[in-house]
Order: sequence, then C-alpha cells, then structure tokens
Amino acid sequence: MNSNEELVNHLVSNGSLKTKEIISAFLKVDRKDFCVNEYKKLAYVDQPLPILAGQTISQPTTVAIMTEALQPHKGDKVLEIGTGSGYQAAILAEIVKPGKVYTIERIKELVEFAKKNLRNYKNVEVIHGDGSEGLKEKAPFDCIIVTACAPKIPEVLVDQLSFGGRMVIPVGEKEHLQRLMLIIKKKNIEKIDLGPFVFVPLIGKYGFKE
Ligand code: SAH
Repeated sequence: MNSNEELVNHLVSNGSLKTKEIISAFLKVDRKDFCVNEYKKLAYVDQPLPILAGQTISQPTTVAIMTEALQPHKGDKVLEIGTGSGYQAAILAEIVKPGKVYTIERIKELVEFAKKNLRNYKNVEVIHGDGSEGLKEKAPFDCIIVTACAPKIPEVLVDQLSFGGRMVIPVGEKEHLQRLMLIIKKKNIEKIDLGPFVFVPLIGKYGFKE
C-alpha cells in the first residue's frame, strides 16, 4: 500500500472500519505524519511500527477495531491512556471535534514527540503522567481508550466513565493471553470480549510494576 487512502481502503475491505464518520477521520489523518523518519516508508503497511523508547504505533487494523468499538461521537469528551505517537488521539480528535481529547503518556520523550505531531490539533491536550489512575479532574468521560495492556480492569477508570460511557481496554498477561475488552457503563457494567490482541504493558499504579 502506497498511500493513506489505500491503507483506509484496506481497513474497510478487511471489515475493521465501518462507520462513515470514523472512515472520514482515518482519511484525514495521515499515518506517515506519526511515524519516526526511519519507518515513514512503512507507514501504509498494516503492522505496528517502532517509535521511540521501545514503544510502538499500533497496527492500523487494531486502531480501527478499537475506534469502532468505542463509537465516539461529535462533541464527546475522551480520555486516551498511552499517547505514543499521537496517531490514535488525532483520529479521535477529528471525530469528536469540537469535543475534547485528553491523552496521557508516561514517557517524557513520547510526550514531546506526540505534542509535535499533534501541533495542528486544538482540541487535544497531551499530559505527562501515569494514566492508569485516569484524570479525575476532567471526569466524567464519554469514552476512555487504553492503548496498553492492564493486568485487570482498573475500577478507578470505570468510575470516571459517564452513564452510557464506553471504554476499550486490553486486559491480561504481559505478552500473551491478552483480551481486548469493551466496557459499557449502564445500570450494570456490561463487558464484551472483542478477542485476542497483543499490546505493550500499561505500567503504573493500576498497571504492571516497572
Ligand atoms: N496510542 C498510541 C500507541 C501507544 S503504545 C499511538 O497511536 O501511537 C502504548 C503507550 O502507552 C506507550 O507509549 C507507553 O509508554 C504508554 N503507557 C504505558 N503505561 C502507561 C501509563 N500508566 N500511563 C500513560 N501511558 C502509558
């Protein structure tokens, strides 16, 4: 695949992208702008790529599946945990604008990288810190997306969801047996298993130990 448009067509034909507004956002955000120089030539290949500090920009199919499960809407307030390159945050920002995206990253070098990549987005705030605790002062959120794997679903994040709010989060052991979970906060907390995936670990108070 040689262009962002070809990558998006692939995500539609493999069934991971479905919703009109989400497809438009994927077309607007060029993945190449979020890759490090050495990997820009592979930006339109459907695979995760190294960024900085041993972390990765997620596979496009995974970003598509997570965004579709989250179902963000125009005007929503979103929390992302694990900013990485800022690619997922940019897609969310396109969908929810004028709603706002708060995104937390624990590695300072990546905070700077993402801020640079997201400089044209007025509705994204990149925060340096431990996202496993959420962002209590800005709660409740319509959507929470965790792009690193947690040992279990942190209660503190469920508490920060609005009524009807949705959260996608990979849960499981560090390298294997991870399941991507969709949590919907209603009268009961609904939990839907979206299948097996592999993510880098969530490291922090409600994640894995360093
Ligand atoms: N969403 C990113 C993919 C990031 S990979 C993108 O679109 O490029 C997951 C990221 O989570 C890594 O950058 C890692 O440093 C970060 N991370 C891990 N534990 C964290 C925590 N407790 N708080 C915030 N970020 C965390």
